[in-house]
Amino acid sequence: WRALDAAHHIHPFSDTKALNAEGARVITRAEGVHIFDSEGKSYIDGMSGLWCSAVGHGRGAIVDAIADQLRQLDYYNTFFKTTHPGVAELAAAIAQVAPPGFQRTFFTSGGSEAVDTVIRMVRHYWAAVGKPSKHIFIARRNAYHGSTMGGASLGGMKPMHAQGGLPIPGIIHVAQPYWWGEGGDMSPEDFGLWAAQEVARAIDAAGPENVAAFIGEPIQGAGGVIIPPATYWPEVQKICRERDVLLVSDEVICGFGRTGEWFGCQYMGVEPDLITFAKGVTSGTFPLGGVIVGDRVAEGLIGQGGEFHHGYTYSGHPGGCAAALATLKIMHEEDLVARVKSDIGPYLQSRWTALAEHPLVGEARMVGLIGALELTPDKARRARFAAEEGTVGLIARDISFREGLVMRAVRDSLILAPPFTLSEGEADDLVAIVGRVLDATWA
Ligand code: PMP
Repeated sequence: WRALDAAHHIHPFSDTKALNAEGARVITRAEGVHIFDSEGKSYIDGMSGLWCSAVGHGRGAIVDAIADQLRQLDYYNTFFKTTHPGVAELAAAIAQVAPPGFQRTFFTSGGSEAVDTVIRMVRHYWAAVGKPSKHIFIARRNAYHGSTMGGASLGGMKPMHAQGGLPIPGIIHVAQPYWWGEGGDMSPEDFGLWAAQEVARAIDAAGPENVAAFIGEPIQGAGGVIIPPATYWPEVQKICRERDVLLVSDEVICGFGRTGEWFGCQYMGVEPDLITFAKGVTSGTFPLGGVIVGDRVAEGLIGQGGEFHHGYTYSGHPGGCAAALATLKIMHEEDLVARVKSDIGPYLQSRWTALAEHPLVGEARMVGLIGALELTPDKARRARFAAEEGTVGLIARDISFREGLVMRAVRDSLILAPPFTLSEGEADDLVAIVGRVLDATWA
């Protein structure tokens, strides 16, 4: 496998040449919260794959639902006046759990396409309601919104912009609400307000009549699990409302229970106009994402009539819809969102935040089942390591792999997002491994 991979595969977000020299880790099986490699070693999947496997790996009911669907109707599209039972049922099931005022969903194959859909949908909406000048998007530095031209442009990651001539025009990036790294002398509350005011300054500089929307993840995931101070989101919402700028909550990671609410915007107490989702909705079993469209935009788009010239071959794929319906059924039957909020979430959080006592940990934060540890040589000063940024994080991540726990390193932090089915015993094992990782990294 390694030889075939080395000869023929280009890995996403990887230095393929360096990887080929080292040899990729080959993952061959997954069950519950564990994955297994080709040498038979098992790991706790502390990242749910890529923030996907919400209901745990190897759920037979999802596999059966996909197989049954593909036997019945393997593929048909939802273009040109056709539909199928699964896509209609899934759109209704999403409306049932979405915040009030969200009745309609546009389906895509994943998160990046959902974000691209938002760009086109929002600009089309403003044109349809007679305000075509509103086209600019405000996004944030260090945000991740996907890898397509639109998604990577809205994202604020410099290395991504450097490849492919990004960002596309019409995007303004503002501060991220990252108190630990960028808060300076300000209190978290003041910093949250300051970062929100950056949004206001950007909109006012561009002219509100030119600004279409603000997009943000309720909690920035790939940017390092950045949980904004409580002051941030309510202020951003107020700023957007006052200027008639739409608010887009990118919930590709936070959506479908990760924060202990069905959607991260609910955790943050914010009412957006559009919500993007992917990943957890099928627990990673089938590529499916979409945009849940609030009534205002839906009415503007649909009420005006006319065609929205946008869609993907796999928009509403029958297999993806079956996977999502089966995943939602498990979430309801096992009450998993409530479990994240009131049971395993608080259980893991209390043990996770106690890791802040370790000399290497500056901050240990977690909401629901998404968290980060900021590693620092001097927590009082929130200092960075002398080594090139990210070096210590990668060392810690590699030790963690050896110890049998998958975490991700972002800068010099470790991030975690395990399946919602994690047991208390597995949570204890996980935290014990993290303790050993911290000791070994410190040494
Ligand atoms: N938005 C956010 C917030 C994400 O985290 C991601 C993926 N990590 C995306 C969009 C892109 O989703 P996908 O990889 O499914 O295209």
